[in-house]
Amino acid sequence: MADNFTEQMLLLAKLQKIDTEVSMVKISLGDLAEQLKEIDDREAVFKKTTEDTATDLEAVQKEYRELDRQIKENADSAAQKDARLTSIKTNKEYHAILKEIEELNKKNSALEDTMLEYLEKIEAGEKAVKATKKTFTEEKKLLAEDRSAIKKQTKGIEAKLEELAELRLKALDGIEPKMLDIFKRTTRIVIQPAIAAAIKSVCMGCNMNIPPQFYNELQKSDKVRNCPHCHRIIYWEKPTE
Ligand SMILES: [Zn+2]
Repeated sequence: MADNFTEQMLLLAKLQKIDTEVSMVKISLGDLAEQLKEIDDREAVFKKTTEDTATDLEAVQKEYRELDRQIKENADSAAQKDARLTSIKTNKEYHAILKEIEELNKKNSALEDTMLEYLEKIEAGEKAVKATKKTFTEEKKLLAEDRSAIKKQTKGIEAKLEELAELRLKALDGIEPKMLDIFKRTTRIVIQPAIAAAIKSVCMGCNMNIPPQFYNELQKSDKVRNCPHCHRIIYWEKPTE
């Protein structure tokens, strides 16, 4: 009985070792997925900056075109008035129109000054667009490299996970259904590992001392017992020295 029981405990411990590794591998996969997300987020920020810079430039260019349109409109209006001057009969009307032409020219002069300012803005905007595009292109390349490295790593870990799944299937071999059931139930209520050896009165799961009476019972290796402190399944392991 004791031999078979100890063997069952060792098989469960082996299964636990695989399960622990699976958990760790899954955490690594989660980390890699998180890293991929961070890369996507970073790329999105660069993309937005590039787009915003282009949008800003377009807005300035649009205002520049509007100024240009106003100037042309004023110039046309002034030219029309100028053409009318020859057919004007009264001196008063003549001067009134001259004044209107003068006003339009003055307006245009101010608008042209503003246009010059906009030209500078456009020049700065074009530079900014070029710079952000360049940065975005460079960053995209770097991020793509990072991404492919992480994907490669992910593939390796996924392969490892498949390998562990096969090992786990093999490890299940020989474990009695009743024992597996207890193990599964314990897995749900304690933090991994669900099974730990007890060596020299110490539970290897929680590193706490096991009461002497309980430790004596444990050495019978006749039934499943749980650590009184951490509730993990514990089994007696003969000290090596
Ligand atoms: Zn314990």
